[in-house]
Amino acid sequence: MPTYIAAIDQGTTSTRCIVFDRSGAIVSLAQKEHRQIYPQPGWVEHDPDEIWRNTLEVIALARIKAKLQVGDIAAVGITNQRETTVVWNRRTGKPYYNALVWQDMRTADYVSRFSNDGGQDRFRAKTGLPLATYFSGLKLRWLLDNVDGLRADAERGDALFGNMDTFLVWNLTGGPQGGLHLTDQTNASRTQLMDLETLNWDNELLQAFDVPRAMLPDIRPSSGDFGTVSSEVLPGVPIAGILGDQQAALVGQTCFEPGQAKNTYGTGCFLLMNTGTELRHSTYGLLTTVAYQFRGQPVHYALEGSVAITGALVQWLRDNLGIIKNSVDIEKLAGSVDDNGGAYFVPAFSGLYAPYWKADARGVIAGLTRFVNKGHLARAVLEATAYQTVDVVRAMEQDASVKLSSLRVDGGMTVNDLLMQFQSDVLDVPVVRPTITETTALGAAYAAGLAVGYWNGLDDLRQNWGIARTYEPKMEPDTRSRLLHGWQKAVERSFGWED
Ligand code: ADP
Repeated sequence: MPTYIAAIDQGTTSTRCIVFDRSGAIVSLAQKEHRQIYPQPGWVEHDPDEIWRNTLEVIALARIKAKLQVGDIAAVGITNQRETTVVWNRRTGKPYYNALVWQDMRTADYVSRFSNDGGQDRFRAKTGLPLATYFSGLKLRWLLDNVDGLRADAERGDALFGNMDTFLVWNLTGGPQGGLHLTDQTNASRTQLMDLETLNWDNELLQAFDVPRAMLPDIRPSSGDFGTVSSEVLPGVPIAGILGDQQAALVGQTCFEPGQAKNTYGTGCFLLMNTGTELRHSTYGLLTTVAYQFRGQPVHYALEGSVAITGALVQWLRDNLGIIKNSVDIEKLAGSVDDNGGAYFVPAFSGLYAPYWKADARGVIAGLTRFVNKGHLARAVLEATAYQTVDVVRAMEQDASVKLSSLRVDGGMTVNDLLMQFQSDVLDVPVVRPTITETTALGAAYAAGLAVGYWNGLDDLRQNWGIARTYEPKMEPDTRSRLLHGWQKAVERSFGWED
């Protein structure tokens, strides 16, 4: 009897393979970063072939590290950076162009053009999403308009579209020799081409975006049958789950009840609240999205607040300014001063996402005086993550008419105690870090494991969740309002740069 589940976590900065046991403990982990390609300001690309090679490598490495036989793996689950858009040829397997990454802003003109004809929210009722550079539909449209021969190939059914989940499944299940062209509802819900109620591609949307249906994958529930691996790294193992990364974290955090929420602190921040089987439309700048559908259960929805730049700002401080050598160094530098010294950093590098949705915003550092040093800047960088989360939580509370009682957190930035304490302080609720912080990969493993009967039901999964640390709010109310007021002023100064 196989004893483990493997998860492939194809993230924005790296690809991981993590093997879990029944208790959710990590048995093996391998990870490889891929290149971030910036051809011009605002453009971000990945090489899909590099990511595919890395995927094979990390699976092989994870197996070697724990000496795992193929027969030890009951199923594989996939989770992926959402929205990132790739098109490839069905016969050769070759991508037509680099993948356009979710943060890529090249479709800003399309956003204005489409919004002029019906407003930024013209597709919200059907898709839960405003028009923004973020989602796949407009990225795909850009590719169809700009890559020679692509549209003709797409209409013939020779060119295939997918997010990274689809590209990996197609390659894992045979590639040009008969790979399956599939996605799940969570990924499809981020394309802006799927109707949230029918859970299928929508003709009216396809027409509006001018996307040929022949290039789109079949949409399936997140936990179920996505074919069988044919590559030699895991031959014969079923692919039994797919979840977009943020939905996977929601599942990994076992937020299965309506009202339960998690915030993931990685490249960006993504706060999702389960709204159960009810499809709730936001009036405060959040997204409505598919949360998951498990076997034999109805589809569940979520409200989401997406923030584009949080951990990426720490990387920027490291790579572009060289103020720190490693991401982890920011905590010590920020801890060298008592507060932000009056400085605020609004990292609107990709415009501002939730709850503002301003494609024309750009980054600003505000409140500088001669007093401000690099310690204050480091602090302003960390605080920016916390303030952006506050903005999203307040919107969520208004949309859902509930007050958040605590926040479950995960992701690479949650190792930063200073940030987590500050987050609790400015939110004024406890912040809870679970024992298993690899929740994204775990969520994909859960989806796959539920499908093949490795776990019997949600109670098995709930039992795996435990608290590692709770941060209680300690800040004086006056300090909190002063800081949030400063942040709001700084945010307003970021608007309208690119108009
Ligand atoms: P993703 O899945 O989006 O690639 P991760 O969850 O792996 O992201 O988190 C990586 C992010 O966390 C990076 O942007 C990095 O700058 C940031 N990060 C890592 N360690 C720390 C730290 N100690 N303090 C603050 N940020 C950190």
